[in-house]
Amino acid sequence: METKKLLESLQKTVNTQNAILCAMPDLVFELSLEGEYLNVWAQNDKELAANKAHLLGNNLVDVLPKEAADEIFLAIEKASQNKTSFGHQIHIQTPEGLLWFEHSASLKESEGEEPTVIMISRNITQRKELEEKLLQLSQYDPLTNLYNRRTLEEFLAKDIYRASHYNTPFSLCLIDVDFFKRINDTHGHSVGDEVLKKFSRLLQGSLRKYDYVGRYGGEEFILALPQTTLAEAKEFAENLCDEIRDLHFQGKHHAEFRITASIGVAEFDQHSNTLEKLVQTADSAMYLAKSSGRNCVKVRRSQNMEAYFQSLGCQIAQ
Ligand code: GH3
Ligand code: MG
Ligand code: MG
Repeated sequence: METKKLLESLQKTVNTQNAILCAMPDLVFELSLEGEYLNVWAQNDKELAANKAHLLGNNLVDVLPKEAADEIFLAIEKASQNKTSFGHQIHIQTPEGLLWFEHSASLKESEGEEPTVIMISRNITQRKELEEKLLQLSQYDPLTNLYNRRTLEEFLAKDIYRASHYNTPFSLCLIDVDFFKRINDTHGHSVGDEVLKKFSRLLQGSLRKYDYVGRYGGEEFILALPQTTLAEAKEFAENLCDEIRDLHFQGKHHAEFRITASIGVAEFDQHSNTLEKLVQTADSAMYLAKSSGRNCVKVRRSQNMEAYFQSLGCQIAQ
């Protein structure tokens, strides 16, 4: 009688567990601590890296790419140390396409048996895609696909810190398209947008290994030049000015036109040691370029440095 009750209770537990497994949209695996597939439960077997028969008896390393297998081994190791582990993500090819999975693992210990790990593998592809989109929206300017002002300022602040901490040069160019309003007025706003896109591609293409560029405002851009002195930055900006002059655009009624830009260049120094001051210095150089007839490059040192050089009787190269 006792045994019958025990068996009935055992059967109920098994039924409950089976019902839980059937209700789960996730993949569930039982793995040995060495990574062998011992059991597989899958509502949607198209999400599996290989079919069930191929998985059973095989090892993670035989089925998954190395990087993904390493990540699951890490999950197994953590579960065997702490009983559970969470958050291990892998990106793998399946019959449903390239999918992201996140893993929760729990150590299964039974008397007289080797411990194993129960691993729940949740398809988080949609969440990852949304995260990616959100990141894209928060970091990039939608028209030009360059960094937006916020991202640009984050990177600039870090570079300014680096330049000050390691005493390395750091320069930036503030670039403003000349008479841009006229382009909108003459050819329409959508041609203006196309100009900004093509102009941005040119800026992006001009970057060296550690440089970066972002849209600072409407038709204003900042190009950051780490490890670059003022003189080198001036030369860089002058080449850029030439390349901008060579760009061709199509306006209303297929009319071809060209553009120019005014560029202000400034270098980080002990007197322009905040982002605000450095941008202000580049901005004042850019306005000097505007007032000197546009379509040119001007450099400025920070106010204090200028006064210092002048007190020594030095001319500042413009
Ligand atoms: P300057 O040589 O003095 O810089 O003259 P400018 O006409 O370039 O400067 P201004 O500041 O007078 O005009 C900038 C124009 O840029 C005004 C604004 O409508 C336009 N603009 C800003 N953002 C966009 C955009 O995303 N698309 C388009 N098409 N136009 C934009
Ligand atoms: Mg402007
Ligand atoms: Mg302008």
